Amino acid sequence: KHYEKQEILDLAAQLDVRYVRLQFTDLLGIIKNVEIPVDQLGKALDGKIMFDGSSIEGFVRIEESDMYLAPDPDTWLVFPWETSHGKVARLICDIKLPNGEPFLGDPRTVLKRVIEHARALGFDTLNVGSEPEFFLFKTDEQGRPTAEVNDEGGYFDWAPLDLGEDCRREIVLTLESMGFEIEASHHEVAPGQHEIDFKYADALAAADHIATFRLVVKTVARQHGLHATFMPKPIYGINGSGMHCHLSLFKDGKNAFADESDEVGLSVTARHFLAGILHHAPAFTAVCNPIVNSYKRLVPGFEAPNYVAWSAKNRSPLVRVPAARGASTRIEVRSPDPSCNPYLAIAAMLAAGLDGIERELPLQPPVNRNIYRMTDAEKEIAGIQTLPENLAEALDKLAEDDVLVEALGEHVLTHFIEAKRIEWNIYRTQVAEWEREQYLQLY
Ligand code: ADP
Ligand code: GLU
Ligand code: MG
Ligand code: MG
Repeated sequence: KHYEKQEILDLAAQLDVRYVRLQFTDLLGIIKNVEIPVDQLGKALDGKIMFDGSSIEGFVRIEESDMYLAPDPDTWLVFPWETSHGKVARLICDIKLPNGEPFLGDPRTVLKRVIEHARALGFDTLNVGSEPEFFLFKTDEQGRPTAEVNDEGGYFDWAPLDLGEDCRREIVLTLESMGFEIEASHHEVAPGQHEIDFKYADALAAADHIATFRLVVKTVARQHGLHATFMPKPIYGINGSGMHCHLSLFKDGKNAFADESDEVGLSVTARHFLAGILHHAPAFTAVCNPIVNSYKRLVPGFEAPNYVAWSAKNRSPLVRVPAARGASTRIEVRSPDPSCNPYLAIAAMLAAGLDGIERELPLQPPVNRNIYRMTDAEKEIAGIQTLPENLAEALDKLAEDDVLVEALGEHVLTHFIEAKRIEWNIYRTQVAEWEREQYLQLY
């Protein structure tokens, strides 16, 4: 919905909003906010609220720290939960420099630039439908997360096996009251694991929704004495949490991926886009799977992909083409996980697909067999690559990919790679419990 400044000021007064959170995300996708009393709202909407950019992960150095928050009026939303001080609303912001220019280190700005690129190629919308999965863990007396999941349920189970049901239902109701259109919610395969699907939206709104979704899930879980986590693989040996992304491009209001005359219903545009996704997949993995733990999920046996291939039939490859056709024609990228920065992840996938379209990359044939049963020789003949096995390898692939380097921009890329290399190096030198179990006695 589109709002004018005056409408927002009127709504704030009408609904007795006392505080407004000016929300944005840092480079790592963590939500940040500045809370202002409602009498500052006019000033905020004029883009006059300043903050110290040097204190935000991946933004700027201390010498150039003054930055401005530029709220996007269309993201106006009043949180449904009451605080002891009245209602709180939020606005999602872009980041601007003191001279009024967009700050190129701002993930939302990065996504907007890639969307502009899609527009220049004649596409009015990239639609993104995401399926974030998460776990609910019990908390201890101090409210800290424990290692114990809250139930023993499995895929599509009901209570009493699914003890997360009440909490999940309240998450759904809260999201609905905030304008989310929920399509489905269910217990996932692993104990304590859940999924809530909401309707697709254009790329920018979809990224905003993911950021808001994670906040709401965590907040409502806390109200139920539970800890919600979007960590991709919290427990060894059972399914991890993915965030499949369904993508389609629209041109002149019509789905540009649909072509009924094609054998799998995909247009030439869709085929090039998909070829671009496959081509750049090893490189965008660092962005879509940005933490050390992400790579514990991308292993065989747990419904997560680790091969770069596509299929209209089965779910083991990286990309699936769901059966729906016509306006719902889309591709499903199955590698992203919910620890990613949604703005950067969507920007990276969109840039990859657009490159496929611009260079008219040929699409490799679908792989309709179970890839996990193919021998290495068979995979080699079919040209099936694997995704990076760990964060370090993924970062190397990202740094080598000119299209993604250009799409993310110098600022984001440099800071992202630097922060992630530090993360990897700290992890690399840790001694895990597994190592002591394996080696302590033997050597
Ligand atoms: P799965 O079979 O993988 O569970 P779902 O059918 O639950 O997938 O996923 C549907 C997701 O795809 C939803 O978020 C839905 O809104 C989204 N979706 C539907 N049509 C489109 C489209 N044309 N473009 C992008 N996403 C779409
Ligand atoms: N949890 C699986 C993953 O890690 C996905 C399960 C599903 O198909 O919904 O991607
Ligand atoms: Mg799922
Ligand atoms: Mg899916």
